[in-house]
Amino acid sequence: MSLYLDYNATAPLCREAKQAMLEAMEWVGNGSSVHQFGRQVRQKIEQARQEVADFFKTSSSSVIFTSGATEANHLALCGFEGRIIVSAVEHDSVDQARPDRLVCPVDARGILDLTALEALLKKGNAPVLVSVMAANNETGVIQPLEQVVNLAKQYGAFVHCDAVQAIGRLPFSWEGIDLISLSAHKLGGPQGVGALVMQTDIPVKPQLRGGGQERSFRSGTENFLGIVGFAAALKVVKDQDWVAIEQVRDTLETRLKALCPDALFLVQEAHRLPNTAVLVMKGVKSATQVMNFDLAGIAVSAGAACASGKVKSSKVLKAMGVPGELADCSLRVSLGPTSQMDVIDRFLEVWMDIYERAHVSSQ
Ligand code: PMP
Repeated sequence: MSLYLDYNATAPLCREAKQAMLEAMEWVGNGSSVHQFGRQVRQKIEQARQEVADFFKTSSSSVIFTSGATEANHLALCGFEGRIIVSAVEHDSVDQARPDRLVCPVDARGILDLTALEALLKKGNAPVLVSVMAANNETGVIQPLEQVVNLAKQYGAFVHCDAVQAIGRLPFSWEGIDLISLSAHKLGGPQGVGALVMQTDIPVKPQLRGGGQERSFRSGTENFLGIVGFAAALKVVKDQDWVAIEQVRDTLETRLKALCPDALFLVQEAHRLPNTAVLVMKGVKSATQVMNFDLAGIAVSAGAACASGKVKSSKVLKAMGVPGELADCSLRVSLGPTSQMDVIDRFLEVWMDIYERAHVSSQ
């Protein structure tokens, strides 16, 4: 039996998105063409835009479709002319967008240090954009967005939020956040499409210029199929039973601890996504664990898997002050709506096998 426990990397395409995309494949036309074919495609794109806007209870003109969250993050940060403050645990697509960014530290749980944020806000001139993710992709830790927004507003700063890992996994308030980045493939939609939701009139300069699509914020023919699939996935994501998923995650942690007292759990005390666990198998490198789980048919992940597929050591855990010898032996398990209690037995069996083999061979 193979098990997919890597939803934070990407979620399988949901039935509804697949169906909507199959139907859309029958349509011909460029959404910018004035003839009836183009107009029909345009109508579908605008319907999808409205559905994304409805999710955020905002106007459809706020939604700028992009090729994913990496591009949405770049549009937000590179398009903003002013100072940028990012948290120390942001995804690389935020962290590397602006080399001149200021970095705000986090505490041992990975939660933004609000006192440090205030000190950074006080320093220097406006305009300022604060970029803080809703939930971390490696740990699932949730940031205090409401407090970030209140503090930023006190200093006249704008707020951007990379909401990629949060959508549909917990109810969030998006009030007061100027810019929100989304990615379809984390929520059951297709890969290669996302959006920047511009909830206010924040000045952002386009990064892709040309045909003037997406209200000139993002030129280029829209990814029609992707957009249709994205909206369809977003519609059903609200109905997922994440309480049940949390029970699976918690049971997995409890049973693992009982079975292997040597196992450690990071960020267990923090407010975190219901689907994410970070486990440490002492003395066994993350890459070895991932490989062995893979050989046993279980897909899990470690640190941030970069584009080359190599496991890099985690910047996020480092920013939290997790000692290198633990961070380098950590493993991320991220569950999804299809993960039932029956995944636990198999996961624990493979964990114990890897653990025992490693510890017998090192004796
Ligand atoms: N931000 C976060 C928090 C992510 O987890 C990811 C995907 N790993 C991205 C941004 C990038 O998203 P995309 O793949 O759509 O470019």
